[in-house]
Amino acid sequence: MTTPRTRPRQDSRWPMPKRPSFSARSMYRLHRLLEPNGFYRRLASWLERHPIAYGAFTAAERGVKGKAFGCRMCGQCALPATGYACPMSCPKQLRNGPCGGVAANGDCEVYPGVRCVWLIAYERAEREGREDDLTLLQRPVDQRQAGRSSWVNYWQGRDAGLWTGDGSETPRHPPVGVAR
Ligand code: SF4
Repeated sequence: MTTPRTRPRQDSRWPMPKRPSFSARSMYRLHRLLEPNGFYRRLASWLERHPIAYGAFTAAERGVKGKAFGCRMCGQCALPATGYACPMSCPKQLRNGPCGGVAANGDCEVYPGVRCVWLIAYERAEREGREDDLTLLQRPVDQRQAGRSSWVNYWQGRDAGLWTGDGSETPRHPPVGVAR
């Protein structure tokens, strides 16, 4: 008889890999509705001029994305290039793929019994024909943006250069902020 696997308890010091609540396909579609335009840019500027509204907006983002993706509010959202699996939910917060500790069955080294978020990312991207996105190189996280709204940063154009590639990849849907 096999014992059912129980999800390990999260050590509050470390993030825990999170399987997103929504399919990658639906998120790629939603992303198109959030692409920067005049309205979003004006909204972002207005929010930054009104700290109370900005705080409420950021709290809403934290709530929605925290539940859906295990978002840690890094302020520089990588989701569009990672099959909408948050790399900051990796306990080691690796932005460019898994560590060398992934178990043979795909479990996280820190949380046995929990699938590595980078495998989740690859599987989700592959299902949508977007696995090439994972060859893009993510720049180091700018800790000064921690806790800030990644949506506002995106609409304000601060995500430009968030990731780069070797020029060989041709994503059908350009990831956020990549000048083409
Ligand atoms: S803003 Fe950062 S922490 Fe939040 S979902 Fe995006 S990549 Fe993850």
